[in-house]
Amino acid sequence: MGALPIIDHPDASREFVTNKARSHWHDEALWFVRSKRDKQAHSVPEWEYLREQASEVKTHTIANLDRYLVEFEKNATAMGATVHWASDAADHNRIVHQILKDHGTLRIVKSKSMLTEECGLNHYLEDNGIEVVDTDLGERIVQLRHETPSHIVLPAIHIKKEEVGETFHTHLGTDKGASDPQYLTEAARGHLRGKFLSGEIGITGVNFGIADTGGIVVCTNEGNADLGVSLPRVHIACMGIEKLLPRHQDLAIFTRLLARSATGQPITSYTSHFHGPRDANSELHIVLVDNGRSKLRESETFRHALHCIRCGACMNTCPVYRRSGGHSYRTTVPGPIGSVLSPARDSKAHKSLPYACSLCGSCTDVCPVKIPLHHQLLAWRKELVGQDRMPKSKTVPMKAASYLFQHPKLFALAGKAGRTALRWLPHFATHNRLNKWTIARELPLPPKESFRDWYRKNRG
Ligand code: SF4
Repeated sequence: MGALPIIDHPDASREFVTNKARSHWHDEALWFVRSKRDKQAHSVPEWEYLREQASEVKTHTIANLDRYLVEFEKNATAMGATVHWASDAADHNRIVHQILKDHGTLRIVKSKSMLTEECGLNHYLEDNGIEVVDTDLGERIVQLRHETPSHIVLPAIHIKKEEVGETFHTHLGTDKGASDPQYLTEAARGHLRGKFLSGEIGITGVNFGIADTGGIVVCTNEGNADLGVSLPRVHIACMGIEKLLPRHQDLAIFTRLLARSATGQPITSYTSHFHGPRDANSELHIVLVDNGRSKLRESETFRHALHCIRCGACMNTCPVYRRSGGHSYRTTVPGPIGSVLSPARDSKAHKSLPYACSLCGSCTDVCPVKIPLHHQLLAWRKELVGQDRMPKSKTVPMKAASYLFQHPKLFALAGKAGRTALRWLPHFATHNRLNKWTIARELPLPPKESFRDWYRKNRG
C-alpha cells in the first residue's frame, strides 16, 4: 500500500466553510444536540461523579488490558462464542470474509460500527462480490449517496432532508420533491425490511465488552442491530480491544453517560446484551481488533484517548467541527478525538488536524470519560514540531517570537517599531496573500504608547 495522502484540513474544509448557509445550518443543528446534552447532564446531580468513575474504570482497564482481554475471551468462549484476534484492519477484513465464505454468504446486513468503517470493511467485501447493506438509517443514506459518515453518532448530519428526498427518489422510487421526514422514514423502513429478511449474516459493532461475563452490549436508537442479528443464524460482532469493561456492574456508569452525552437522551432506545449464540443452531463470532490501539496504549501522553466511548459530544460542541463539517477531517473519526487519534496512526498524513482547534477546551468539558482533549491536541502540536513535521513558514516565525518574548528590551523596541509602522504602512502591505491571518480580519488601530509606558505613567 502506498503512502497515505497528506490531509490539509484548511483546504479540505474550504468548500464547506465558504458555503455560509450550509455551514451555519450545520452549526445550529449540532448546537441543538449539544444543548440537549447540557439539559440532560444538569438533570443528573451525580453527573461529575459518574464522569470521574468512568475515567477511573477506563484508566484501570487500559492499564490491565491484557488480563481483561484474556478473561473476556475465556468467558465468551465458555458461552459458545468464537473469539478471533485481528492485529490490523487487513486481518479484521480477512477474518470476517473467511466467516462469510465458510457460510457461502453473498449478502450481509450491518448495523453501525465505526470500527468496520476504520477497517474499510464495506469496500473490501464489495470488492469480493458481497452485498453489504448498512441498516442504520443515517448510514444507509450515506451509503446510497456513496459517501462516508461525517459524524460518528449522526452519520448523515451534513445532509438536508431535501437532499435525502432526492437520494430516496433516485434509489428507492419515492415521490419526486418529497422531503417530509415521516414519509421518507416510512420509505426507508419498507426498503430495509426487505433487506433484513434477505440478510444471510448480521454484522454489528460493539459498544461495550464485559470481561467478567464474556457478554457484549450494542446500543442503537433504531433497533436495527437487533433486527439484523435476530433473523440470520450467524452474528459477527466487531470490537476494538479498548471497548472492554472489567465487570458487569461497571456498565451502568457508561450507559448513563453515553446516550446523554451523545444525543441528549436519558437512555439509548435499544441496549442489547448478547451472551453467546442465541441457540444451538446459531453462531456468534467476536472479532477483537487492535489496529494501532496497543501502540497508542504505550504512549504516556496519548493513552487516555483509548477511554473514548464514541459518544460524539466533543464533535457537537467543537466550534471548528460545527462550522467545517466532518468530511473536512478526511478521517473515520473526525472532530477533537479524531484529531488526537489520527496523528497517532500517521503523524505525517494528519499533521494539520491538531491545528483544527481553537483550544477553547469545550471538548474536554463535555467528554463523559474526561479525556483531556484540548491538552492532547496541544501536546500533538509540540510533538509535530519535535518531529520536524511543520513547515518553516510556521516554525521560523514562532522561534523569532519566542526569542523576542525572552528579551524585554528587544520586545519593547519591536513594539515601538510595529506601532509606528502600522500607522503609515499602506493597507496592501499588511493585507496580502502572504499574510493569511488578515484574510478575514482588520488590524486594530495601534495605540500611541505601549502598555508598559502607560503603566509607568499612570500606576508606577
Ligand atoms: S472523546 Fe469523549 S466526548 Fe469525544 S467521542 Fe470520545 S467519549 Fe465522546
